[in-house]
Amino acid sequence: GLEKLYLGMDFGTSGARFTVIDEQGVIRAEGKREYPPFMREESMDWVSSWKATLFSLLEDIPITLPSLPFLYNQSCPDALPEVKSIAPANHTVCSGSSTLCKLVSWWNLKLPNRESAVLLHQADWLLWLLHGRLGVSDYNNALKVGYDPESESYPSWLISQPYSQLLPVVQAPGTSIGNLKDSIRRQFGFPDDCIVCTGTTDSIAAFLAARATEPGKAVTSLGSTLAIKLLSTKRVDDARYGVYSHRLDDKWLVGGASNTGGAILRQLFSDEQLERLSREINPTVASPLDYYPLKSSGERFPIADPNLAPRLLPRPNSDVEYLHGILESIARIEGKGYKLLKEMGATEAEEVLTAGGGAKNDKWIKIRERVLGLPVSKAVHTEASYGASLLALKGAKQKRGL
Ligand code: ADP
Repeated sequence: GLEKLYLGMDFGTSGARFTVIDEQGVIRAEGKREYPPFMREESMDWVSSWKATLFSLLEDIPITLPSLPFLYNQSCPDALPEVKSIAPANHTVCSGSSTLCKLVSWWNLKLPNRESAVLLHQADWLLWLLHGRLGVSDYNNALKVGYDPESESYPSWLISQPYSQLLPVVQAPGTSIGNLKDSIRRQFGFPDDCIVCTGTTDSIAAFLAARATEPGKAVTSLGSTLAIKLLSTKRVDDARYGVYSHRLDDKWLVGGASNTGGAILRQLFSDEQLERLSREINPTVASPLDYYPLKSSGERFPIADPNLAPRLLPRPNSDVEYLHGILESIARIEGKGYKLLKEMGATEAEEVLTAGGGAKNDKWIKIRERVLGLPVSKAVHTEASYGASLLALKGAKQKRGL
């Protein structure tokens, strides 16, 4: 269980202090806040000043041990051997930047009272500020700490670890966690029945934004890199290609990411040139040019080859032909990606929506329709925050029993 700690506060003339002690009277945390400067006038509004300072002090109190966040791309290779020794081969946690590697690396620092800490993903922490229930997450954020969304539990190899008590409780994305905290509700004037729901990761939220809800619907993101996501009735995972599946209710969101994409286009052409040259492309005609557009060597999906070299030659005299060849080559890689997911056992792609900077290129959409042999269109909504608002809608409907 959590260790009991005791908090005292002192509101003086210039500011307020807090002290947190343990059972033995040992100081575990302390801090000070001055009253807001604009209030240190003669006509000082003590009431609002004390109130504001009370809440800033509460913010300062470390709820567990003061600890810095690990960023998503931060790698903890020190923990990798230990994680590999407990997890099944090729499990998604077997990467230095997985949440589990971060947790193990932190646990091995052996900080005092590590047992009473709670693991929070960034989204969990932000939501906690709003609902106040510590240690709640969703199964998309929790995938890389090892949560199994299929059995809706942590696997036994994880539960048996000494740090398993730090793991959050996991809900489906878009599940009501509880009411918005009274203080926040009053401060901002939200309604009494305002609830806070679990969220998801940014790329899944962006997929949800496109409202692709049937199996076989896919979203290709044409940003600096090319990422494909396909809604499937079957879960497929293949660590060699970096392919894994996130659960979405009774379906699976299968994803793969290639290193090809807009980054190389940006290196060769300005956005204005891209628009001008694209206008002259005839998308009904296949380009004979066969490239593998990469900014630097190395590819993961749909070809797993860390040494794959970029192929952008021969360059024709005409820039229109050159761009046509590159767009067509990227479309072929996209097609190969969907084909590979199908071979792995995922639902066959039926319709492709498009997000990212490349989505506004209508000629490219036509080229991709021909190469993929599927209807391709631009998604109406692509913002992750739009997808998150759909989750809020889902959670609220569920709460109301609709
Ligand atoms: P990210 O967020 O991944 O950096 P964006 O989704 O903002 O990327 O997309 C930017 C990319 O879109 C750039 O690499 C750029 O080359 C590409 N891009 C911009 N305009 C076009 C266009 N008309 N046709 C194709 N690609 C384009």
